[in-house]
Amino acid sequence: METIKNYIDGAYVTPQSNEWLDNFNPSNGEVYSKIANSNSTDVENAYTAAHAAFPSWSNTTINERSKILLRIADLIEQNLDKLAEAESKDNGKPLNLAKAIDIPRASSNFRFFGNAITQFASEAHESVGLNTMNYTLRQPIGVVGCISPWNLPLYLFTWKVAPAIAAGNCVVAKPSEVTPMTAYLLGEILTEAGLPKGVLNIVHGTGPKTGQAIIEHPNIKAISFTGGTATGAHIARTAAPMFKKLSLELGGKNPNLIFADCDYDKMLSVTVKSSFANQGQICLCGSRIYVETSIFEQFKNDFVAKVSVLKIGNPADAETNIGALVSQPHLEKVENYIKIAQEEGGTILCGGKRVKVKGLENGYYLQPTVIEIKDNKCRVNQEEIFGPVVTIMSFKTEDEALAMANDVKYGLSSTIWTNNLNRTMRLSKELQAGIVWVNTWLNRDLRTPFGGIKESGVGREGGFEALKFFTEAKNVCISY
Ligand code: NAD
Repeated sequence: METIKNYIDGAYVTPQSNEWLDNFNPSNGEVYSKIANSNSTDVENAYTAAHAAFPSWSNTTINERSKILLRIADLIEQNLDKLAEAESKDNGKPLNLAKAIDIPRASSNFRFFGNAITQFASEAHESVGLNTMNYTLRQPIGVVGCISPWNLPLYLFTWKVAPAIAAGNCVVAKPSEVTPMTAYLLGEILTEAGLPKGVLNIVHGTGPKTGQAIIEHPNIKAISFTGGTATGAHIARTAAPMFKKLSLELGGKNPNLIFADCDYDKMLSVTVKSSFANQGQICLCGSRIYVETSIFEQFKNDFVAKVSVLKIGNPADAETNIGALVSQPHLEKVENYIKIAQEEGGTILCGGKRVKVKGLENGYYLQPTVIEIKDNKCRVNQEEIFGPVVTIMSFKTEDEALAMANDVKYGLSSTIWTNNLNRTMRLSKELQAGIVWVNTWLNRDLRTPFGGIKESGVGREGGFEALKFFTEAKNVCISY
C-alpha cells in the first residue's frame, strides 16, 4: 500500500513518529494508502531545513524565483490527468471537476504568483520641503507555516505556498490529513522544477498533532490557515500571544439573493452550481437561498426539478455531477443537519437520503438536498453544514432580504441576482461579506482580495494582498 511520506529538505522521508494514518477512498469507503502522522520532531526537521534554505532563497533574484514558480506551474499542467485522478480518488469529487477546476487552478496559482512577484515593488515617499526620503522595503518574513483544508486540496494548498515562496520565504506546510495525496505528489514536481531543497517542506498528519506543532513553533513567524472557524479561533488563541502574523480564511454560510428582475435562466443554472458544486463542499457555496415572493413558487419548482436530475455516482464517471462526500464522519455530520432541519419544522423538498452506488456500496454518497424553511434563525440556516444541503426562503422587500442575509455570524461571500443597477449598488455596499458576486458566482480574478469578515476570518489572500501578508514592511527614512 502506498505510503504518504513527508517531503523535507527536497526528499521524501519517513516520519520520525513512525505513525501512520489510514487514507480512505470516499468513493468506495476503502483504505487505499497510509499517511505519515508527523510529530513535533518531524516539524522541527522541516523547520531546520527551511531555516537553512532561507538565506539563499531570500537572496535569489526575483527573476530566478519567478522562473522556478513558472516551471512548477508548467509541470502541474503536464501532470494534469495524473493529479486530477489522484485528487478525485482522495476527495470523492468528480474527476471532471478536478480536471476543469482544481488542478488547472493549482497551476494558475504558481503561474500567477510567479508573475506577480516581478511586479511587486517597494514604495518610496519623498517628504518634500523636509529634505527627507523614505523608502519601504518589503522583506520576506523567514520561515512561515501554511495549513490547508480538504475541500479543494491542491488548489488551496498552492494558493498559500505559491505567494509564500514567491516573496522569498521558506515554508513548513501541512495539507489536510483527510486529502493529502496531491500535496504529496507535488514533492516530485518541486524537485523536478529545481526548487532548492528546504524552500518548501511538506509535513503530513493530524491537526492536533502535526498542525499544532507548526502553530506553536516559536520560530515559525506567520501562519496562513484555511479551515473551520473553530480551528481558526484555536490557532488565533495559540499564535496571537506569540505575535505571529495570521491570515485566517474560515467558514461561511453564504446568502444567495434572487430578485424577480434577474436573468432567470442564467440564475437558475448558476444557482444549481453554487449550491452543489463539489457536493456543496466549497466555502463559497451559496447555502442560504432567498427568493423574492413573486417568483418563489416558480423558482422552487424549477430548482427542485433541476436538482432532482443531478447524477450522483462514481466520481470517475464522465457524466457524474455529484460525487462522494469526503469522509464517513462528514457524511454523518451532514445527515445530522438534515435531521435537525426536520425537527425544526423545515420541509425537505428533495434529497436528504444516502445513495448506494452500484459496485461502490460503501461510498459516502448523499442526495443533494433542498430544504424550505420559515425561520431565518433556525440552526440549519445559521450553522455551516458544508455539504450538499441548501435552505430556501422567500422575502417580500429588499430590506428584508438584506436583513436576513446579514443575520448570521459568518461573512465570507454573497451573491445577488438582479438587473437593477441601483439595487446592486445599495446591496453591495451593505452586505456583510468580503466578496459580493452580482449575476455570477465563483468568478475569480486572482488579483482581487479574497477573504471574509465576522467569523469568516481575518486578513485577505490574493494578488498583492498575499505578497504583503508574506512580507514585513520596513521603512527607511533618510535625511539629506
Ligand atoms: P479544519 O479546520 O478541520 O482543518 C483545516 C486544517 O487545519 C487541516 O489541515 C487540519 O489538520 C488543520 N488543523 C486542525 N486542528 C489544528 C490545530 N490545532 N493546529 C493546527 N492545524 C490544525 O477544516 P476542514 O474540515 O479541513 O475544512 C472545512 C472548513 O474549511 C470549512 O469550515 C470551510 O468553510 C473552510 N474553508 C474556508 C475557506 C476560505 O477560503 N475561507 C476555503 C475552504 C474551506
